[in-house]
Amino acid sequence: MSSSGEMELPSRLPLLLTHEGVLLPGSTVRFSVYSPRNMQLVKHRLLRGTSLKSTIIGVIPDTKDPEHEIEDLPSLHKVGTAGIAVQVVGSNWPKPHYTLLITGLCRFSVSSVLKDRPFVLAEVEQLDKLEQYTSPASEGADGELGELSQKFHQAAIQLLGMLDMSVPVVAKFRRLLDSLPKETLPDVVASMIRTSNKEKLQVLDAVTLEERFKMALPMLTRQIEALKLLQKTRKGNPDNEKRVSLVHKGFPGRQFNLDEENEDEDSDDTTALERKIYGANMTEAALKVCIKELKRLKKMPQSMPEYALTRNYLDLMVELPWNKNSKDCLDIRAARTFLDNDHYAMDKLKRRVLEYLAVRQLKTSLKGPILCFVGPPGVGKTSVGRSIARTLGREFHRISLGGVCDQSDIRGHRRTYVGSMPGRIINGLKTVGVNNPVFLLDEVDKLGKSLQGDPAAALLEVLDPEQNHSFTDHYLNVAFDLSQVLFIATANTTATIPPALLDRMEVLQVAGYTQEEKMEIAHRHLIPKQLEEHGLTPQELHIPQCTTQEIISRYTREAGVRSLERKIGTVCRAVAVKVAEGQNISNMESLTPECQGQQAAKEAPPEMPIVIDHAALRDILGPPVFDMEVSERLTLPGVALGLAWTPMGGEIMFVEASQTEGEGQLTLTGQLGDVMKESAHLAISWLRANAKAYQLTNIVGAPDPLEGSDIHLHFPAGAVTKDGPSAGVTIVTCLASLFSGRLVRSDVAMSGEITLRGLVLPVGGIKDKVLAAYRAGVKCVILPKRNEKDLEDLPANVRANLDFIMVSSLDQVLNSAFDGGFPGTASACPQPQILSKL
Ligand code: ADP
Repeated sequence: MSSSGEMELPSRLPLLLTHEGVLLPGSTVRFSVYSPRNMQLVKHRLLRGTSLKSTIIGVIPDTKDPEHEIEDLPSLHKVGTAGIAVQVVGSNWPKPHYTLLITGLCRFSVSSVLKDRPFVLAEVEQLDKLEQYTSPASEGADGELGELSQKFHQAAIQLLGMLDMSVPVVAKFRRLLDSLPKETLPDVVASMIRTSNKEKLQVLDAVTLEERFKMALPMLTRQIEALKLLQKTRKGNPDNEKRVSLVHKGFPGRQFNLDEENEDEDSDDTTALERKIYGANMTEAALKVCIKELKRLKKMPQSMPEYALTRNYLDLMVELPWNKNSKDCLDIRAARTFLDNDHYAMDKLKRRVLEYLAVRQLKTSLKGPILCFVGPPGVGKTSVGRSIARTLGREFHRISLGGVCDQSDIRGHRRTYVGSMPGRIINGLKTVGVNNPVFLLDEVDKLGKSLQGDPAAALLEVLDPEQNHSFTDHYLNVAFDLSQVLFIATANTTATIPPALLDRMEVLQVAGYTQEEKMEIAHRHLIPKQLEEHGLTPQELHIPQCTTQEIISRYTREAGVRSLERKIGTVCRAVAVKVAEGQNISNMESLTPECQGQQAAKEAPPEMPIVIDHAALRDILGPPVFDMEVSERLTLPGVALGLAWTPMGGEIMFVEASQTEGEGQLTLTGQLGDVMKESAHLAISWLRANAKAYQLTNIVGAPDPLEGSDIHLHFPAGAVTKDGPSAGVTIVTCLASLFSGRLVRSDVAMSGEITLRGLVLPVGGIKDKVLAAYRAGVKCVILPKRNEKDLEDLPANVRANLDFIMVSSLDQVLNSAFDGGFPGTASACPQPQILSKL
């Protein structure tokens, strides 16, 4: 800031609203900034500003309760101090905040508030001259003011004489006293000596110099008297000298604490912290580090940015559950009941979980594999994890790993970074407050990788029982024992889980549900849960079985039950409105004022319960989303129904083909991967080689499908990427239908890989695929013979309601996929095995 010429404040200033601490011109004060408006100000003005002017802000006390800042307009004090932010430090711990070091320049008053969002911007009027703080030349005032300033100066020198000059802050005080013009002294002294906020506000409000001297002089005199008293009472005490120098440690912007009982709030604070450190029961190594850090902390002035960092670190260290655990209360019989009560079906999973828990019970420290539940969304993976925690009587914490691509997310940042934080594991432990919680690592298949290191590698350390007893988070920098934590992982597919991580886990597949299972889950769990969440009772809302059936088949098509639950939620909301409305009209008058509202909504009007029938459902959810029957789409030659596996579960997939006159080109659309494209080429090659035998002719009557015609194969939905070899049989069937002009059976779906010689090879995901076929109302499924063993995993009712045709050659596929067989299929080849309704 130049002292040449008159320096002026900008006429508009962004305002920092403070609730404690008063900035006076010439002093430097540290402010911690948490509130949304102040945070926005720092982000928009201080962090982005490029010129010096842009870092000038107005600091003004807000007299309103900080809790209400968000809704209300702040009520500003009439005078504020413009200042320059000389330091800005951001931190995310324990919550996002900035620490600002601001040096006061001059007073201003607010003429009008221009806007209050995202931060307050106001038209201001400058009250003091700026250069009076920068040029010592503006000395000399006469009359009463001159006298006052003289008096004040002398008193300040007297105070100085009583202080220990070896304390840096006292030396600084002395320097200021020598160099600053006398007019600035009231502000500077008032901010350095012990004064209350209220007194500082009075000094701030004293706009004329005379007033200011009058206001500050008694405070200075009081300080001198207090010091005299202190010295007198300490006379004879050998510690005397030392004490006086000790109590004077301070800093511009902080006060000399001279009162006996408030001798040093800081030291109280650090003593409390010290006590906590010793009481936290931490490991020896951790204790050593804490003591070292505490020593450093004691030596640091509070305004140093590192003070906050060290303090946060120590606060975290004492909060961590080094030795706190919840008692395991495992009772296998109760566990079984819990799991059965919370979840319908999922027998295999529940059985394995019980085995796992039983082994844990018998052998207290279990270095077994980590359980990893793999299956489509909404099949209850998270919810089983929660039940396990409940059965064990442990805390539950979910760590979502979807999209995490930075290893410091797991292992924390080193403390040298601004805004460094511990990783999610340590954070989770702090949240639950015990060292043996159940941690659910959600979506391990969606871990990313980036330049910031591989989070999977960090997870390995967390999950490896050989290593995790001394897991070192970068932020903590001391080992923490994770061996008591029970980790459970969930994923939609194992394909994208890093192999090394997969190796540590025992994968439990959770397949999707059948219609019947969904019905049971809906009536046993989802409907009661949603009723409760919406404040309804079964006496108010009744969803009959046929309605649930309709929601399942016509409004959702999913492997799990998540969107089913959401649809039931929508129904409940609609009914809640009706119940509340009916209530208000019929019952309001008869109720006392206290029980109106909530109570009113509970009372049943006469027409209760509201039954959701077909018409009501249509009214609430709109027209059905999945209306087209499979059979309707298979009414043209050149369409076949395949089965695909996706991380969301199994799906049915129509394959469509068309031909036009052309030059023998094959076009493939529908975002196909390389393997799927190769399947299409294989299928065409096989058909060309066998066209004669199967009496196929194309659009121009040629026996070679590609002679004089172009073929187009399309796989809806076009926007979804598809890959894998399992569509081979479907493509062959679809093309055979196109070239023979015959319709594929409308109730058949299929899956299988093909070879050039016409063999059908096994594929994966059979259970999910069959469930998808069953959901879509298919009656018969063609599958590779070598997949027969996978059928054992299917629910009994699915097996009972579907026909399975197990094939080993394309000849058998064609024979089974068309009504009355396919012309030319060799009768000599072994007949496919039909497992009719097992
Ligand atoms: P995921 O973690 O597999 O994506 P969630 O555990 O979040 O799925 O389950 C979604 C919802 O479905 C939860 O409300 C859960 O209680 C419910 N749910 C899923 N499967 C079952 C089941 N077998 N029995 C009862 N409720 C279930």
